[in-house]
Amino acid sequence: MVRGRGFGAAKPAKVRRGELLAQLETIDWAPDLAEDIGSARWFRGLGTLIGLSLAALAMWPGGDAIAAAPALPLDTAARDEFRSQMIQPLALGGDSGRRMAATKAVAPLAYQPERTSMQLTATLAQGDSLARMLMRAGVSDADAGIVMALLAGVTTPGSITPGTQADLRLGQPAGPGAARPLEHLAFRARFDLDVTFSRVDGRLIITPQPISVDNTPLRIRGVVGTSLYRSARAAGAPIEAIQQYLHTLDQHLSLDTAIEPGDTFDIVVTYRRSSTGESQVGDLLFAGLERDGRPKAQLLRWGGDGLFFEASGMGAQRTGLIMPVVGRITSNFGARRHPVLGYTRMHAGVDFGAPHGAPIYAVGDAKVIYSGWHGGHGNYVKLDHGGGFATAYAHMSRVAVPNGARVHAGQVIGYVGSTGLSTGPHLHYELYRNGGAVNPLSVRFTVSNQVDQKELIAFKARMGQLKGVSPGAAMTSMAPRQAATAQTPRREIDRLKS
Ligand SMILES: [Zn+2]
Repeated sequence: MVRGRGFGAAKPAKVRRGELLAQLETIDWAPDLAEDIGSARWFRGLGTLIGLSLAALAMWPGGDAIAAAPALPLDTAARDEFRSQMIQPLALGGDSGRRMAATKAVAPLAYQPERTSMQLTATLAQGDSLARMLMRAGVSDADAGIVMALLAGVTTPGSITPGTQADLRLGQPAGPGAARPLEHLAFRARFDLDVTFSRVDGRLIITPQPISVDNTPLRIRGVVGTSLYRSARAAGAPIEAIQQYLHTLDQHLSLDTAIEPGDTFDIVVTYRRSSTGESQVGDLLFAGLERDGRPKAQLLRWGGDGLFFEASGMGAQRTGLIMPVVGRITSNFGARRHPVLGYTRMHAGVDFGAPHGAPIYAVGDAKVIYSGWHGGHGNYVKLDHGGGFATAYAHMSRVAVPNGARVHAGQVIGYVGSTGLSTGPHLHYELYRNGGAVNPLSVRFTVSNQVDQKELIAFKARMGQLKGVSPGAAMTSMAPRQAATAQTPRREIDRLKS
């Protein structure tokens, strides 16, 4: 009822308002004052203009400026109050909190007793030495010298990692002003060694305590999601291991195109776990990438200089003739019709058909004498092998070695592309003998540090050993915090049978 009446009453009002609005809309509020000068419409327009102008002038800001709130007067007491509440680094003289001087309620002692012993903790800082750290803690020069001499007998004193904490106990000084004798000192000298110094019959003795360490390499496998980095982190890989993995992979594959979501990464790093619970990540040993269960990259650290070798290349590429790329020859050396320029000209090299991004290997040990854009050759690398021989690699999508670098036979120097005058991804490979182009297939490059059969067997055995490490075993012994971060649905740790 109430609602119905409400509607009924509102209706005529709405109609009246509508009519009024329609009337208002017909009025020309701002007529052109250049037309019909002197007419009633003109005067009304003039009136509107003057009225609006007066209204605008009436709103002209004037009078006194509005004063801002006065700044809080800071006297010394207030300043100190603020200071006591702020947090500052100690290095900048931070003095958070308040200190009060002794009041009259505090009575000074007539005699100040010495503590019989002092228990301290000292931390070895970056760039600091153990002896200096001990002396700052109050150990006498003589005692610090003895500690260093004793320590040198069990480990290299300079190799103690910064951040190592030492527990010290200083005894009662022999007399006023004398230094306190060192009674006890314990710290971790090495990842696998604890040392304790103690005073027995007035002489310092050292007790080394080896810590048992498990050296089983850490293997992390998982599926690349939207980001390899995040997926590997989620699978429990330490940051250093992922960085080494990406760096190594980047030297053998083009990272921009090589890794796709759904690929499986396989990382093996040296890993040391002590019986006291700490872990230490070392060098990358193996970097693998798989797509649909088939290996796309299998890189193993091999040899003294820490180089990585592709498992498939180790057998095929490192013995006998090294091919600059895995692919078939699509155009031979000699005269031919140029596919882009259209006329017959000398083809000064051999073309290999290969997919975009496929790695290009140096055919022999060499020095890089050109790396970069080279006109129609596009991205181009030229290697000097000595003895008057040079090889060149053209149309790369990306070069992987800088000018002046030394490269080994089989090392990746770039990736197949189609830069410069090229109709599609391929490698244009040239060989120069004393500056003139010759048929690249006429010369066989034999690798100077050729891998013999025995080494190849050892390489394969090492690869098998690393791939036999169960990723599950490493996961279960991880620190609880790390294990918790690995609980994402992306994680897929294959528990391979070893
Ligand atoms: Zn060519």
